[in-house]
Amino acid sequence: MKNRYTQDKVASAEILRLLLQKMAAHPAAFTPFAYTLWYEFITGINPPLVKAVNALLDEKRQIDDDLVHELYAGYIADGNVEAEQAFKQNMQKVLDNLTRFTEATDDEAGKFNAGLQKHGERLSQGLDAESLQGLVGEIVVETQTMRSSVESLQDKLQESKSEVERLQQELTSARSEALQDPLTGVFNRRGFDAQMRNLAANPEMLGKQVSFLMLDIDFFKKINDTYGHLFGDKVIRIIAEVLKAQVKGQDSVARLGGEEFAVILPNTPLEGARVVAERIRKLIEQGKIRRMDKDESVGGITISIGIAGCDIGADWLVALGHADEALYASKQGGRNRSTIYAAKD
Ligand code: GH3
Ligand code: MG
Ligand code: MG
Repeated sequence: MKNRYTQDKVASAEILRLLLQKMAAHPAAFTPFAYTLWYEFITGINPPLVKAVNALLDEKRQIDDDLVHELYAGYIADGNVEAEQAFKQNMQKVLDNLTRFTEATDDEAGKFNAGLQKHGERLSQGLDAESLQGLVGEIVVETQTMRSSVESLQDKLQESKSEVERLQQELTSARSEALQDPLTGVFNRRGFDAQMRNLAANPEMLGKQVSFLMLDIDFFKKINDTYGHLFGDKVIRIIAEVLKAQVKGQDSVARLGGEEFAVILPNTPLEGARVVAERIRKLIEQGKIRRMDKDESVGGITISIGIAGCDIGADWLVALGHADEALYASKQGGRNRSTIYAAKD
């Protein structure tokens, strides 16, 4: 996957200048979302976004926080993890570059100051020109003022450098939140897709097998109806905990919908996936979940699982569909079981 932020240092410094102008001209807060939006707009690297923003600007619309979020969600956020990394690096480059620039300016001003002083000395020795000397003295004072203003500019840049570091951290957590299911803390559908893209982009994973588990809670409607929606949510959270605890390092868990989960098992053959699935299924079958308001635990909650796989890099949506078909077979076969997808002739 390509880095979409390829501007060099000089260009990126210019971009920052334009970007700050744009941000200042619109009421939206200076958030990482706004930074990213204007960065992509100014560089033109995101043509659909440029078109959308231009249409708004043509209508003389002010870009406020709501619009920033709308545009960000519609044209930028795609769970693109490498874009986040690139944004971080580029923002840093821009600021490093600007800091170097002002350091150079400071040197320049120092030399200018020294030069003027030398001239002043010469004038005072050789020439009887008090008025000229006075003038030079004034210039020296002005130059020193200029120097101190450059220094304070440098301080400001240092400040904004730490501010941008903070923004970068916010961007990172904002993006990871966008990939997370708030109820359970596991990936959401977008996070699932991002994990799959990461796998496909990892050269070590090339050509290896990935297996998927699709899991669905049995008779969940009945659980909700009998014990209430809040208890239903607790069941979902606990099942997510079990899944997280039962998978290892490179595996990922996602909640794809209401009471449906998926597990990605990279570098795992179908038989290995079945072992994981059965371990999870049995643990949940044996578990009891305490009700919040009553001194009572509910047992007999079960899940059905479908298993399928493909080569990493192949069209994994097809394999996910197969896992879903196998899940359906588990339901049809009486629930509380796991089934490996069998290709039909
Ligand atoms: P099956 O064994 O065939 O899967 O039966 P089921 O009742 O689990 O399946 P169905 O798809 O008919 O019902 C799923 C129910 O899950 C529908 C809805 O009431 C409930 N549900 C979906 N999302 C949530 C959620 O976030 N929280 C809670 N508490 N319930 C949810
Ligand atoms: Mg369901
Ligand atoms: Mg269900």
